[in-house]
Amino acid sequence: MTHTSFIEISESAIKNNIDFIKNHLGNEVTFSSVVKGNAYGHGIRTYCTLAYKYGVRHFSVSDANEAYEVKKTLPQKDVTIMIMGMIHNSQIEWAVENNIEFYVFENDRLQVAVEAAKKLKTSAKIHIEIETGMNRTGFILKDIAKVLKYVQENIEHLVVKGVCSHLAGAESISNYKRITDQQKKFRKTINKINQHEFLNPDFHLASSAASIRYPKTRYDLVRIGILQFGFFPTKEILVHYLNKHRIFESPLQRVISWKTQVMDVKTVKSGQFVGYGTSFFTNHEIKIAIVPVGYSSGYSRSLSNRGKVLIRGKRHNIIGTVNMNMMAVDVTYADNVEKGDEVVLIGDQGDREITVSSFNDYIQIINYELLTKLPDNLPRIITK
Ligand SMILES: *Cc1c(COP(=O)(O)O)cnc(C)c1O
Repeated sequence: MTHTSFIEISESAIKNNIDFIKNHLGNEVTFSSVVKGNAYGHGIRTYCTLAYKYGVRHFSVSDANEAYEVKKTLPQKDVTIMIMGMIHNSQIEWAVENNIEFYVFENDRLQVAVEAAKKLKTSAKIHIEIETGMNRTGFILKDIAKVLKYVQENIEHLVVKGVCSHLAGAESISNYKRITDQQKKFRKTINKINQHEFLNPDFHLASSAASIRYPKTRYDLVRIGILQFGFFPTKEILVHYLNKHRIFESPLQRVISWKTQVMDVKTVKSGQFVGYGTSFFTNHEIKIAIVPVGYSSGYSRSLSNRGKVLIRGKRHNIIGTVNMNMMAVDVTYADNVEKGDEVVLIGDQGDREITVSSFNDYIQIINYELLTKLPDNLPRIITK
């Protein structure tokens, strides 16, 4: 191993979470596995391989580059890949040729899709995205009639696989009004689309939060990201789920662990600053362990003097600033910490655990952001 730290991916946790999601959605609803952001930092190739093994056949990505990664990892014919965001006009032909589905939310992309399909003598598989109130991407309702007319005129070269939208924060009750207004608009759209017999799309609106909090938004397909990795989108959604099912513990399991080892141990006398600058001062003699992880590996600098790690089964404080490639841990009260000892940044050691959501308590960082900051160049090791 040449890397300074590594990520473990638990295969049994993935299986547990996928089984949970399939149960939760039932047989009528397609589960699309959202693997954008390098599969939420878990490693898109590693994650897709395991998800496929446990029965996932539909994958959603943010851009063409991620679609390419999934395609390369899972060349099987029975895999569907859907791009929800950016694809350059120049890549649309590649997408059409490779059966990759993509969102269309403006006229230019729609026309380029038709041209590419004509050239290839085939059809482009598109999802028409509707603006329902997020005000990000999507055709406004007023323009739908025109879009449908264009689709009908070019139906030889288009397959409308889906009609979709995205909710602007279903994970928080403070957005209730906005979310329910969006649902109304989406239902209106469905009624409009259903008047056209030449169309038979899958309707999709929900991500993890809405699939739990607003079950009616499940329609034909649900785009699930964070649940796969063992996290509820927010504590609020977790509590809602637990109350509804009268259970006390999350049915999901954390998939990721992040580990490194002690690279040096030393004693620092009383009355000294530790590391860069003056943020940590010793009031008494202390013992520190130097750990080869820093903000270049995704360990946020804002965890300086705040973060905690596990060494020899106990929790210890990070002291001083997190450097680019190193940080110091106070091990004064640990039992004989030595060079080479395992350091857990996320995960279990003995009967202690550093959870991903604990980072929420130290610094204002949501699970989604912390995970996607883990660099692709850390090795992902599959464990049981
Ligand atoms: C990221 C994303 C999702 C998945 O969200 P989760 O909260 O992780 O389930 C679904 N749909 C779209 C359009 C997204 O960008």
